[in-house]
Amino acid sequence: MQKPQLPATLPAIEDEETLYSWCASVHALASGTNSGDTSHALFGNGHSSRQHDIPRGLRALQGHLSCFSDNCIELLRIHTVAACYLPFMAPSDLELLATEISAGVKPHWRRRLLSASRSLPIKHPLRFCSACCAEDTAAAGRPFWHTRHQFPATWVCTRHSEALWIFSGHPRRWLLPSPGQKGSARLSDLNTDVAATAAAVGQAISKLRIINTDALRSCTLNRLRDIGVIHSLGGARHDRLASWFCNSAMGRMCAADTSGTSALADGNWVPAHLWRKKRDHPARWIALWSALQWRSADEACSALMEACSDAAPTDKGQYLLFEPQEHPTRAPDHVYAAFEICESYEAVMAHLHVSRGDVVRWLESDPELRRIWKQGIHSRRLHVTEHRLRKSMIDWLASKPNLEGFLESNEADLHWLARNAPSAHQALVGNLRRRGAVARTLF
Ligand SMILES: [Zn+2]
Repeated sequence: MQKPQLPATLPAIEDEETLYSWCASVHALASGTNSGDTSHALFGNGHSSRQHDIPRGLRALQGHLSCFSDNCIELLRIHTVAACYLPFMAPSDLELLATEISAGVKPHWRRRLLSASRSLPIKHPLRFCSACCAEDTAAAGRPFWHTRHQFPATWVCTRHSEALWIFSGHPRRWLLPSPGQKGSARLSDLNTDVAATAAAVGQAISKLRIINTDALRSCTLNRLRDIGVIHSLGGARHDRLASWFCNSAMGRMCAADTSGTSALADGNWVPAHLWRKKRDHPARWIALWSALQWRSADEACSALMEACSDAAPTDKGQYLLFEPQEHPTRAPDHVYAAFEICESYEAVMAHLHVSRGDVVRWLESDPELRRIWKQGIHSRRLHVTEHRLRKSMIDWLASKPNLEGFLESNEADLHWLARNAPSAHQALVGNLRRRGAVARTLF
């Protein structure tokens, strides 16, 4: 068999270009047409041409990319989806990873790095932005796959705000992005604001060296409480939490993303992710953080930076056992708005699609909401009662006045007024007596 030939000069790898993309460019310049041959020439095996997320023959590739010859972790960080995964690894795990790659041991490291899970598989379909393709062709002479487009839950290009084209198939050969790519389509249920947030969150994570997941978890719980999804840091109804995620814009996009994050769509993983401390799939953090109802991608990213910084509170797991005395928490604005127009628990429950327990907890944890609600109900009832009594009085004056009869037929309203607004009651009764006196002299 003829030995496959690599081009005499290999192309430089571009900033943000994936390893798969660089290999595809090498293949385009190589003498052979079979990508398996080029894969053999680059990696010493024929399989790596199909691994567009992270090629397992990374050690061989380091030899061709001299700037990374002694730093496989940086190669992974800049040129593969591992950029989103590495910040979640402990320093000792990173060292082990580097050792395993350098030693060329069997690629278990690849599964470990990608947190591959059979029960909750996260796929990385190839994605590209057509505006980036045009720019890259003009600037670099060729289109290429961008690392940041391949992150989990990324459906838009943050540079051009364009929906990404998603190649859902599993390529058997190296491909370069092209708008006419067979099998590529855009996400059907795209909420552009949330998609922009998710893409920005993935990129923000990829820029971090290490993430303190305890602090991140703690900040996520606080945020969920602030937006009214949970009421206590120690736990919540699992079905309610899952249903919140499932019905969020983020959950709906995951459901539509059949070639990527659809395994996350039902939200059933959220409670375990929050309260069962173990290493979680980084894609879940991207999906969950992006679903936390941020006003903008910037707000989501700066809150994420704060959560991942050392300044964030660390709980070390203790509040799960000893829940702190929770300070009064302001209920979310939409809850305030509901209490403004609803007069009963049932009305609030129906309006917000929540349980009686939720209503009780909001009122218990926010004294201000309780005070405003009670005040609102009181002033509305006072207004209605006074209006009814005034109307009744006019009717009474128009007919043959009999004060005792009037007092009797309006007993309930007058009683309520006497108890809840004594001064208004006195004024009304005084007025009635005067009118009654006048009426008696007339008849
Ligand atoms: Zn773009």
